[in-house]
Amino acid sequence: MLLDTVKNVYSRMARAALKAERDLTGIRLLAVTKGVGPETISEAVESGLREFGESRVQAAREKAAILRESVRDSVLVWHLIGHLQKNKVRPSVELFDLIHSVDSPELAELIDTHAGQLGKIQNILLQVKLSDEESKHGFSPDGVLKAAERVFRLKNLKVAGLMTIPPYFEDPAQVRPFYRELRLLRDTLISRGFELRELSMGMSHDFEVAIEEGATIVRVGTELFGERKKEAA
Ligand SMILES: *Cc1c(COP(=O)(O)O)cnc(C)c1O
Repeated sequence: MLLDTVKNVYSRMARAALKAERDLTGIRLLAVTKGVGPETISEAVESGLREFGESRVQAAREKAAILRESVRDSVLVWHLIGHLQKNKVRPSVELFDLIHSVDSPELAELIDTHAGQLGKIQNILLQVKLSDEESKHGFSPDGVLKAAERVFRLKNLKVAGLMTIPPYFEDPAQVRPFYRELRLLRDTLISRGFELRELSMGMSHDFEVAIEEGATIVRVGTELFGERKKEAA
C-alpha cells in the first residue's frame, strides 16, 4: 500500500535527520509524479502527501486540473523540477508554487515579468550544475555568485534557495561532496547578505545523504511510486 511506502520514506528521512541532529520539520518530502497517473496521485493525497513535483509543464497542468476536481478538500502544491523553456513561463507561473529549475538570469527576468503581470510573487530556486555533464542544465557555482545581485533584485520573485541534480553514482556516498558543495554555496550567498534557505537535493537512492548534508526538500519518485517507464522523463 502506498500509505506504508510513504511512512517508510518518512521514517528513513527521520532517521537521517536524527543522525545529522536536524529537525525533521525543516525537511519537506516532494513526491515526484512524472509518469504517475491522477488516480495514484489522489491515493498519495489520501496518504498525506500534498506537494508534487513534475518535470513537464503540460503534464502538470493536466494532472492538476483533474485533481482539482477529484480532490476538492485538500489544497495541492505543484513544483516544477524539469527544465523550463521560455515559451512555457506563463503557464508555469500560473500553476507552480515553486520553480526549481531557473538556470539563467534571462529566465529569471522572464518569470519576474510574467509574475508581475499575474500579480504573483513567484518562488524560485536557482539550479546549479556541479559537474560537466552536457545533458544537465544549471548555473555554474561561479555563475550563481555572479548572477545573484541581478536575480535577487527582481521584485516579483522570491529566490528561496538552490537546487542540484548530481551525476548518478551506484554508491550514494560518492554523491556527498556534490551536496556539500551546494550547501557551502548557499552559505556563501548568505554570508554576502542574500536571504535564502532551501536546498532542493536528494532523490530516491540518495536522499538520506542529502539530508545529512542539509537538504530542505528531497525529491522522491521511484521510492514512492516504483520504477517509471522509459518515456516518462
Ligand atoms: C525524476 C526526478 C526526480 C526523482 O527521481 P527518483 O530517482 O525517481 O526519486 C528528482 N528530481 C528530478 C529533477 C527528477 O527529474
